[in-house]
Amino acid sequence: MLNQLRDIVEHVSRVEDVYQALEVFVNETQKAVHTECCTVYLANDSFQRLELMATKGLTYDGETIHIPYSEGLVGLVKRSAEPINIAKAQSHSAFKYFPQLGEEVYEAFLGTPIIYRKQVLGVVVLQQRDSRQFSETEEAFLVTLAAQLAVIIAHAREQGHWLIDDKGLNSLNGIAASPGVAIGPIWREEVSMRLHDVLPASTINVERELEWMAVTIENALIDFRRMRKKLDGDINKDALAIFDLYTHLLNDPMLRGDLKKQIQKGDSADWALRQIIEAYSNRFLKMSDAYLRERAQDIRELGERLLFFLHNSQRPQFDIDKPVIVVVRELTATLLAAIPKKYLLAVVSQEGATNSHAAILSRALGVPAVMGVGISDTVAADTTAIIDGYSGEVFIDPPKAIIDEYDALYDEEKELSSLVDQDIALPSQTIDGRAITLLLNAGLSADSSIAINAGVTGVGLYRTEISFILKQRFPSEEEQVNLYGNVLEAYSGQSVVMRTLDVGGDKSLPYLPIQEENPFLGWRGIRFTLDHPDIFLIQIRAMLVASIQRNNLSILLPMISNIQELDDSLELIEQAFTEVKEHYPNVRRPRIGVMIEVPSMLFLVPQLAQSVDFVSVGTNDLTQYLLAVDRNNTKVANVYESVHPSVLRALKLLLDSCQQHKLPISICGELAGDPVGAILLVGMGYQSLSMNSANVGRIKYVLRHVEHSKLERLNEQVMSMNHSSEIHQHCKQFLEQQGLAGFVRAGKS
Ligand code: PEP
Ligand code: MG
Repeated sequence: MLNQLRDIVEHVSRVEDVYQALEVFVNETQKAVHTECCTVYLANDSFQRLELMATKGLTYDGETIHIPYSEGLVGLVKRSAEPINIAKAQSHSAFKYFPQLGEEVYEAFLGTPIIYRKQVLGVVVLQQRDSRQFSETEEAFLVTLAAQLAVIIAHAREQGHWLIDDKGLNSLNGIAASPGVAIGPIWREEVSMRLHDVLPASTINVERELEWMAVTIENALIDFRRMRKKLDGDINKDALAIFDLYTHLLNDPMLRGDLKKQIQKGDSADWALRQIIEAYSNRFLKMSDAYLRERAQDIRELGERLLFFLHNSQRPQFDIDKPVIVVVRELTATLLAAIPKKYLLAVVSQEGATNSHAAILSRALGVPAVMGVGISDTVAADTTAIIDGYSGEVFIDPPKAIIDEYDALYDEEKELSSLVDQDIALPSQTIDGRAITLLLNAGLSADSSIAINAGVTGVGLYRTEISFILKQRFPSEEEQVNLYGNVLEAYSGQSVVMRTLDVGGDKSLPYLPIQEENPFLGWRGIRFTLDHPDIFLIQIRAMLVASIQRNNLSILLPMISNIQELDDSLELIEQAFTEVKEHYPNVRRPRIGVMIEVPSMLFLVPQLAQSVDFVSVGTNDLTQYLLAVDRNNTKVANVYESVHPSVLRALKLLLDSCQQHKLPISICGELAGDPVGAILLVGMGYQSLSMNSANVGRIKYVLRHVEHSKLERLNEQVMSMNHSSEIHQHCKQFLEQQGLAGFVRAGKS
């Protein structure tokens, strides 16, 4: 049975055309179960009906056949989302006779829903003349097959091959990652580059070309591992095998050696790549074994992938010359940093989730973003699209009525922004006079000249990673002194909290790639820098030197998970301080803080209070680790609940504990910059919030229009709630009642 199952799935997934794949599915399943009829229906939610897509055994010649969700046994399977197995279908109360199907001849009925991530995509039905109950094994077989078919159908849909024509409105749903709406032409990342387009070119800088090639190979290996992992639970073993093959080839010292030799002859990296790949693939083409001959094509494909990485890791270049909606496979902070801001209307990413760093950066830039959108590769550049960063909807080539609706929404947005801007420099306090410190999160943008934000009284989190990520090597001490000096100078007289390097997780250095099964649980943040005291010391010294005479530096340590890491970090900071003091006797000791983002720290506040000056809560990671949900993974994005009752309780526990030990605390995770998050935190008792530039005005406006006492009451109410959806809804209603609905807009639909 297992073999039959595997065979069917393999045959089906090998067929490129989805209609044909369904044909193969019904034919082979009917044969495997020794029954007389097998049919697949797919759901059309817009018309609330099931549409017959393929059948072996019913009268069907390709014309459209629909069954309303509310009718018949097939409709019942869809509604109940459970298999129905009956011997005498025609005597069942839900049976409905559809004359066009010619199914009056069949008695036995086994229908199973095709479910993908809780959604019933359709129904698969087995039928037979004899009045008999299908066996339990047959039922289990069909359920297993339906689960596999669901993946194939969902995949086809993600590729834009959705078989159902629903209301002619081409809309896709993703994860709302950055609020706002945008209308404009699509610009697509160049995904495929052809080897035969590479022309002969030489280089005079062999070292640089060799370095590019090395970085390219590492980036490609990381990507293959990631792709392989992504496909791991998938059924298409061919796709898995190909990534294994690529990895194997790339690790082959001979291929690497040949590439190196070719560049050393003076050829540019891409020209060397073309020649070597063609030589290898020709060698395979000449082999007598048919299997090996076929590998020639794999080698060419590997070459083209490398070419893509070569061009993208060299210097991301974007030929964008007008405002566009940027569509990419995976949005990275580096990519976003390389796109000219003035032309960036919105971003759509096929992968990612709300709190991936790229999403955070989109919010910081004030650019609407939707992540995890199954946008087809066939949607052409320049097609008009609408992006709804509130609801996560993306409309491709929308009709005029939808464009008009969004035009109106866009105007409302602009009005709200100008309202918010008017209040930007006013004191940050609630109506009843409770002062809340608002600070800036900065550093994710590649732009080193930090913009002054009139709404804040300092920088609560300066992320230092980007200057490391955008280089081909670690930045020198002097480069870092200059960079940090600019930031400290821009906010002179105000406190600036600089975080030490937090790479790992979803931020990797191109020149020091880290390959791990679980990068977010791995060599990340302080774990990495403590293992590289040289890098840590350079960074701390650079911060200290930059702070001389400015005296507004605080240093923040990321990803601390135990007191030993803190002690080791403090020792290194002391060492750096002593070294700097030798040359600059007037250097002052900075304030030192710890990020609370690993749950273990929730219980160690008394110990922290003895050694550090403050703590800052990284709710992005704290939520990820508390809920065991990858902040980057589209598949589990719905489980990442930023106002999960446990997250709120953890935050309350932490605040109480810090107050008890007189340890200053602020929040620098994305929750602080979210209107719902901000009112909850302030209601809980937090008095210092750090957020990205685009959110400062909005949060200040919200806080200036609510009473603290009401927020305290709101907080009490939500603390008794069990579901984050309920908490969220309650807070939204509260904001609406305060006349602040525009800050929690639900989108058009
Ligand atoms: C956090 O984890 O909340 C945080 C502020 O750090 P980052 O988002 O850079 O991981
Ligand atoms: Mg973090």
